[in-house]
Amino acid sequence: MPKLLTKRSKKSKKAKKSSPARSVKRVYFFGNGKAEGGAHLKDLLGGKGANLADMTLVPLPVPPGFTITTETCGDYNDLGQKLPKGLMNEVKGHLLRVEKATGKKFGDAKNPLLVAVRSGAKVSMPGMMDTVLNIGMNDAVVEGMARLTSNERFAYDSYRRLINMFGDTVMGVDHHHFEHELSEVKNARGAKVDTDLDADGLKEVVQRYKKVYSQIVGDEFPQNPLVQLEHAIEAVFKSWMGDRAIKYRELNDIRGLRGTAVNVQSMVFGNMGDDCATGVAFTRNPSTGENRFYGEFLVNAQGEDVVAGIRTPLDCQSEMGKWSKKSWAELLKVKSTLEKRYKDVQDFEFTIEKGKLFMLQTRNGKRTAAAAVQIAVDMVKERLIDEKTAVLRVDPASLDQLLHPTFDPKAEKKILAKGLPASPGAAVGKIAFTAEEAEKRVADGEKIILVRRETEPADIGGMHVSEGILTSTGGMTSHAAVVARGMGTPCVAGAGAVHIDSASRQLKIGDATYGPDSVLSIDGSTGEVMEGSVPLVEAKLSGPFGTIMKWADKYRTLKIRTNGDTPTDARVAREFGAEGIGLCRTEHMFFDPQRIHHMREMILAQTIEARKAALAKLLPYQRDDFLGIFKEMNGLPVTIRLLDPPLHEFLPHNEKDQQELANSLGMSLDQVKSRVSQLHEANPMLGHRGDRLAVTYPEILEMQVQAIIEAACQAKKEGIKVSPEIMIPLAGTKKELDYLKVFTTETAERVIKETGVKMPYLYGTMIEVPRAAVTADEIAQTAEFFSFGTNDLTQMTFGYSRDDVNSFLPDYLKKEILERDPFQTLDTDGVGQLIEMAVRKGRSVRPDLKCGICGEHGGDPKSVHFCHKVGLNYVSCSPYRVPIARLAAAHAAILSDDTKAKRNGRK
Ligand code: ADP
Ligand code: MG
Ligand code: MG
Repeated sequence: MPKLLTKRSKKSKKAKKSSPARSVKRVYFFGNGKAEGGAHLKDLLGGKGANLADMTLVPLPVPPGFTITTETCGDYNDLGQKLPKGLMNEVKGHLLRVEKATGKKFGDAKNPLLVAVRSGAKVSMPGMMDTVLNIGMNDAVVEGMARLTSNERFAYDSYRRLINMFGDTVMGVDHHHFEHELSEVKNARGAKVDTDLDADGLKEVVQRYKKVYSQIVGDEFPQNPLVQLEHAIEAVFKSWMGDRAIKYRELNDIRGLRGTAVNVQSMVFGNMGDDCATGVAFTRNPSTGENRFYGEFLVNAQGEDVVAGIRTPLDCQSEMGKWSKKSWAELLKVKSTLEKRYKDVQDFEFTIEKGKLFMLQTRNGKRTAAAAVQIAVDMVKERLIDEKTAVLRVDPASLDQLLHPTFDPKAEKKILAKGLPASPGAAVGKIAFTAEEAEKRVADGEKIILVRRETEPADIGGMHVSEGILTSTGGMTSHAAVVARGMGTPCVAGAGAVHIDSASRQLKIGDATYGPDSVLSIDGSTGEVMEGSVPLVEAKLSGPFGTIMKWADKYRTLKIRTNGDTPTDARVAREFGAEGIGLCRTEHMFFDPQRIHHMREMILAQTIEARKAALAKLLPYQRDDFLGIFKEMNGLPVTIRLLDPPLHEFLPHNEKDQQELANSLGMSLDQVKSRVSQLHEANPMLGHRGDRLAVTYPEILEMQVQAIIEAACQAKKEGIKVSPEIMIPLAGTKKELDYLKVFTTETAERVIKETGVKMPYLYGTMIEVPRAAVTADEIAQTAEFFSFGTNDLTQMTFGYSRDDVNSFLPDYLKKEILERDPFQTLDTDGVGQLIEMAVRKGRSVRPDLKCGICGEHGGDPKSVHFCHKVGLNYVSCSPYRVPIARLAAAHAAILSDDTKAKRNGRK
């Protein structure tokens, strides 16, 4: 933290010298059809502020107000958490404009203006920062409000809410103190829900709240409205650097923002009586994408009552028309107005005051991957957006949700309870009762379902690591539901039959009791809660998902291959759209019990003849594997990497296994042991591995090449097209490749001659050693293709051991020395430069050099963008990431305006 402050304060000092603080406009007005801001100013006004201004301009009915810029929040933190000079004067000036626009006066008991003070960063961070409603109430104003509205109950209800919110979010008085007082009054007066309390009851609540406030704060509740306002503004600024907000930004990879804006807005009241209401809605279903109004409302309520799960909200679609035909019709019109303007699903908040609808917020709605896909395809049909926009609307990383298994519809299941299908997907795990417990147990390797009455923002750490989330109260827009959808975590919300006793760590459903070791299955698509572990089935690319993928393929120029070692991998990947195999790791073929035995025999052989004899036993296995893969890939290119890991990895390391091995090979235990210790290396990752093995033992390479070419010839005889690419791992010099090429060519030519089948193949290398990248123009004289093995290339460029990186990398990330884990997202500034150079140098001597990437990065959307930019021919990733890479490649092409259609046009 101190580091951040010094860095920023230096900058702000400079800024002060060059531009006097007064010239900076910090406050932007909106109201009555006019606004100083607009949708384009999200950086400066935050998402909420920019859209309040924009909705005002439509015009939609937005209560007048003003927005204090995000820059001001940044300055506030730079100044060591002090409000910049002159800010409150500018605020007061704008308050006058709001008074004029509303015809009310702040702090005037006869005609009071009340305001809401609301946070709102550029990126929405639901529930992470603070909002205070009803600012401007005091002992005199509450009386005035009561007279003016002839509604004493309403006035005191608003006042008690202010004391509670101000005490809680501004002064840090724990909310439960207020809750406690409210329950006492309710119990004493026989009130079941808040709305049962009459004016006298609420007056008593106000008295008690004030007492709690002064006891804990050590000061009376401030009666001066301007003092309230200033404190509330400051509290919003402060919440930006609160633990919750910081953690949320970390988890969601939100960086480079200076702060939150503050919106000060005149209040409208959903709690003035039964002709008033407040609600939240999505213009379409954010869980399935169905084009149907999706919202909830509460009559006679204010603010966050809907999301807080205090009373159970009503479904707009089925209930609002019964309550008010006019409001329901208005809301349906709002749905289409918003979608036409923003061309995307909107998540909006509204309040109805005495029958009049007010819009309080709108933003693009967070949605599940399934919904994103459905909505994007529908909106193209509705001509709201074009295909390219639709493709860009689906976040490649989120496809993970669609590619993961669902519960087998044919499986037997014991349904214990049913809640709301709040976030789709199947989850199986043991029960944790608190977020903290979930974090701990997941760190210990358990799979967890987090079970809570309702979640709260402090729970996000635990929600993030859990397989699924189950709550017993709360609706489709409750905290748990919204956050889970955002995370793509399956969630069943409001399963009322589930009784949770977190103190004794027990969960009761009917007569049955479940504890921390019980396993539950939850289905976020149906809301079902099931006993035990229900079996899962694989996902399929169909319906709108298939359509989006088809469009993605239309625009992308990068080819997508897969990393696969078996015919099964190959088949799965082809179903997901793979256009070849970018990396087939042959060592994985040696681990089955029969094969590993021959492998060990080969490694322990004391003469070259003995080694060749052992290799000859391995040959048929390899040939069959390759044949299987060639058949599955049916003509698509297959890159096969020759043996890579150090031989040591194949030998047994405990004495019992060593003895058995010795017995079966007719050797002594000592002989085996001595070979094991001979092969031991201090640093095997930089040791005798990769093509260095083939340099020492060319007969291993010969066996593998023979198996590849024989399989290819066999396939061709069977009428299957093949296109093998032989890949040498870990080369660092041209001479290595030259040396090994002799053995490769001789073997291949011999097989071709023997079988009498013409078999073209390519000879290429993996670029993993920085030296190979730097000398790529030499390497490419021999290598016919490059495949960037970015796992090793990253390891060697940074000098970070892949296997030990977790001992220090978390510190680097926390201290922001590194922005990201370079093994997950390609380090474009360092490793990426090597790639770019190698491609350029390589193609300078071999213009048609085929270049691809086969490290983990091939399935990482950010890295895929880079690969597109530097002109690789393909990326290769694990089968399940193929659709992600296809979509990411389309994004890269569309965003850089370098799509297939354009390329063809150019030709
Ligand atoms: P969040 O970012 O957590 O959604 P908001 O600033 O949107 O916080 O405020 C939360 C809720 O407070 C809103 O959904 C709305 O119900 C209520 N609210 C905010 N501003 C006003 C206002 N001007 N008048 C009445 N209610 C308001
Ligand atoms: Mg809030
Ligand atoms: Mg809101």
